[in-house]
Amino acid sequence: MADDKFDAIVVGAGPAGVSTAITMAKAGLNVALLERGEYAGAKNVQGAVMYSKMIEEVVPEFWKEAPLERAIVEENLWILTETSGAKAGYKSPGYAEKPPANCYTVIRVEFDRWFAKKAEEAGVTFVTGVTVNDVMKKDGAVVGVKTTENDELLGDVVVACDGVNSILAQKAGLHREWRPEEVALGVKEVLALPRQVIEDRFGLEGDQGSTIEMVGDFTKGMMGYAFLYTNKESLALGMGCALDEFQRTGIKPNDLLEDLKRHPLIRPLVAGAKILEYSAHLIPEGGYPSMPPLYADGMLLAGDSAQMINPSHREGSNLAMASGRMAGETIVEAKKRGDFSAKTLRVYREKLEASFLLKDLKDHKDVEGELRKNRALLTTYPRLLNEVLHEYFLVDGRPKREHKRRILELVRRERGYLKMIKDAWIMRKMVGE
Ligand SMILES: Cc1cc2nc3c(=O)[nH]c(=O)nc-3n(C[C@H](O)[C@H](O)[C@H](O)COP(=O)(O)OP(=O)(O)OC[C@H]3O[C@@H](n4cnc5c(N)ncnc54)[C@H](O)[C@@H]3O)c2cc1C
Repeated sequence: MADDKFDAIVVGAGPAGVSTAITMAKAGLNVALLERGEYAGAKNVQGAVMYSKMIEEVVPEFWKEAPLERAIVEENLWILTETSGAKAGYKSPGYAEKPPANCYTVIRVEFDRWFAKKAEEAGVTFVTGVTVNDVMKKDGAVVGVKTTENDELLGDVVVACDGVNSILAQKAGLHREWRPEEVALGVKEVLALPRQVIEDRFGLEGDQGSTIEMVGDFTKGMMGYAFLYTNKESLALGMGCALDEFQRTGIKPNDLLEDLKRHPLIRPLVAGAKILEYSAHLIPEGGYPSMPPLYADGMLLAGDSAQMINPSHREGSNLAMASGRMAGETIVEAKKRGDFSAKTLRVYREKLEASFLLKDLKDHKDVEGELRKNRALLTTYPRLLNEVLHEYFLVDGRPKREHKRRILELVRRERGYLKMIKDAWIMRKMVGE
């Protein structure tokens, strides 16, 4: 690689990197995409729900050929105590009436390999098994990368899409190592079940799929959540909590996942399943306050490397793809001007500001901080909601007015009206209202 000079070098072949590379290659740029794994997806972990809009913007009509698992027609939120659960959800086969559906479950290894192949088809030079460990600079501007094999590769611009622990962004001086409270540790199992069993248990027809997001007692008061997604012949069950919470409590993530599998609402759904795979990965959850500078002379950051995750809505891959596409478009414009200075590349930030991406991250910037300050939202409310619903549905010979009285008593005892009004205000603030 030593003598080559590319228009752009993209590091990392996840959703961000491949989207960046395809966007530039389609515009005729000479692009190198470097991936440390033996193949794209080899090192990746995700739930994994992926969103059509953002894939379509990079590969139109992707759904005709991409390796997709199930088209999601039902989304659920379960609020669990140790023995019960309050369920909210929405099902609409309309989400998948005609392709593409709103979102799909995928197996990331398969999806990433297909996606990287689309990059090669677009003309990208895709190199696997290459770990980039530094940037090259000239007069303060990034002009290339160095690999662990001491190879040097030059490019007019470098895009760091190397995920949550972006070595590249750190070496370029754009961000420090994340603090434990700025990342979550997620663990996930893939559980094999026959296709028909999945469809019967989850009430699905054909390639329809469903998702369940969970919060509640299973995190033992830590900031975290869990998920259960349907693939064609497997389930993805996972959970994650802020890393500093695991450090503080000494609780092991795997123990929480095992507990979750034994939960009375989850047990029947995963019964008889065979574990195919276990994986763990960090998730950047510092949000907007933790975002590093997104551009510098000769360099851009996209996806997880720039903390682009919206955990309140389970969104990460779509932010990675959208930011990758916008980084690519910015570089195409910079190439026309022949100027890759920060002054030109700041258009990238303007594009992100104008899109859903930075608006959403700004709107959700207080979620994590408020939850940390108001632990009752994580502990008292799940229990209270379950107790209230239990009482509401109980038929035990007592008149309804006694049930109502008991419900009001529960609310007063557990939280009180004034505190609840305050909590409602905090929750409003958390969603950016
Ligand atoms: C348990 C879990 C569940 C999740 N569920 C969902 C979900 O359901 N929906 C959703 O939208 N998001 C989800 N996310 C988040 C989502 O996975 C990420 O936001 C997304 O993968 C980010 O894409 P990326 O391209 O920025 O980074 P990544 O997907 O992490 O890709 C980075 C790539 O860079 C490569 N790389 C790293 N360092 C180097 C280096 N030095 N040199 C060369 N290559 C390098 C890596 O091997 C990797 O291929 C989940 C995350 C986790 C951990």
